[in-house]
Amino acid sequence: MSATATADGVAARLAEVRNRIAQAERDASRPPGSVRLIAVAKTFAADAIRPVIAAGQRVFGENRVQEAAAKWPALREESGPLELHLVGPLQSNKAREAVALFDVIHTIDRERIAAAVAAEMARQKKQLRLLVQVNTGAEPQKAGVLPGAVDAFVARCRDAYGLAIDGLMCIPPVDDVPAPHFALLNTLAGRLGLASLSMGMSGDFETAIRLGATDVRVGSAIFGERNYGTEPAPS
Ligand SMILES: *Cc1c(COP(=O)(O)O)cnc(C)c1O
Repeated sequence: MSATATADGVAARLAEVRNRIAQAERDASRPPGSVRLIAVAKTFAADAIRPVIAAGQRVFGENRVQEAAAKWPALREESGPLELHLVGPLQSNKAREAVALFDVIHTIDRERIAAAVAAEMARQKKQLRLLVQVNTGAEPQKAGVLPGAVDAFVARCRDAYGLAIDGLMCIPPVDDVPAPHFALLNTLAGRLGLASLSMGMSGDFETAIRLGATDVRVGSAIFGERNYGTEPAPS
């Protein structure tokens, strides 16, 4: 396949995803443009990302700080204003780099991370939009605050660290029907008066939009299947 054909393919997939989001907004009687599309570019090299930027996409997600640091400074340089979201786990020793690189972090889930991000935002004089990841399935191996601990954690972020949490994020268990997890996240955010709900991926973003998603994180439906064989080591 020629480079042009590949670029056309990715532009067509992006347009298709945008159309499906618009349709889901209409179906849910939500205002057009009320859902933000985050194009999750993890594992894809700059050459695969450029055609998506050229097709007008300005909001991207990555799940590893190191991978993002290797790709995005140059892409930002050549592309003008872009919004970059961290949707994967953050270690406190990467907070400095993460605050420098990203505009939004979806994965605040421990007091240590809240403290490190607060300190770095003050040091770098940079305000990020922050979401708390919720482990809606209470999976032992999964990151995120347990549903029963979310209210106290959000209050602690505000009171101890001065962090204004803007919303909640979840990744439902792979083997579960996602809708109840999205509904739970919506209930938790509503109770706390939080504006943003980051939920829904390639396989279920329409369901998430029906249940109130404001930020959908879509990777493979735009970029194609990921090749994990070439995935960089965890950061
Ligand atoms: C990879 C990833 C996505 C995108 O997944 P797709 O199924 O490819 O759309 C969304 N959210 C997070 C946290 C991810 O790591």
